[in-house]
Amino acid sequence: MAPPQSAPRITVWNEFRHEQKNPKVKAVYPDGIHTAIAESLRADGFEVKTATLDEPEHGLGEDVLSATDVLFWWGHMAHGEVVDAVVDRVYARVLEGMGLVVLHSGHFSKIFRRLMGTTCDLSWRDTGERERLWVVAPQHPIAEGLGDSFVVPQAEMYGEPFDIPAPDELVFVSWFQGGEVFRSGACFNRGQGKIFYFRPGHETFPIYYQAEVQQVLKNAARWAAPTPSRPKTGFGHRPQPLESILAPEPA
Ligand code: ZN
Repeated sequence: MAPPQSAPRITVWNEFRHEQKNPKVKAVYPDGIHTAIAESLRADGFEVKTATLDEPEHGLGEDVLSATDVLFWWGHMAHGEVVDAVVDRVYARVLEGMGLVVLHSGHFSKIFRRLMGTTCDLSWRDTGERERLWVVAPQHPIAEGLGDSFVVPQAEMYGEPFDIPAPDELVFVSWFQGGEVFRSGACFNRGQGKIFYFRPGHETFPIYYQAEVQQVLKNAARWAAPTPSRPKTGFGHRPQPLESILAPEPA
């Protein structure tokens, strides 16, 4: 596929702990989940950096975030180690217009819960069952090139109820072999920023190598990127009315 016209600058953030502690995960993602996602996005022409929890400021200093159009976020076992100052910084950037793509167990990250204002809790089961993701918004840019549905052969189940606010747009609904359903692709607007939550991505399965999943992440990167021509929102005191407030109404 041809590179996008003006490629959004992507930073893929990963806590990068499972891959170093668990040989089963390391076998699937020897260089980390962030590297697998970054390589897939680069192959499509995106400019991609990576950042991980154990770097200074978790790799998300002011300089990095100010040069990021879309931040991808994968975390699971160390959400509590993400310092609040970095969460504050990411939160402010989202409100300014940076896109945020929250992956899988990132539903419990500090940044996602802050942006949603809810617990983001759900039910789950890890037996490697089959998941079918149905495209419920075929016209949505994140669904481009995906057809009616696609299957993740082995997945961890996430089930409803999912304690999030009603999404501004819902793109995917998952069905699981065990019977549950889940809102697997949900879009939110917060301030000037666009947020996409995407469910698949359990660390013991090779989900981020799957073509359909990579397609979703590429679509999401383009969708979540800020629109360069969008005027900056004006807030504050506006002493000069646009029209004469004192003019008499026409008879
Ligand atoms: Zn998981």
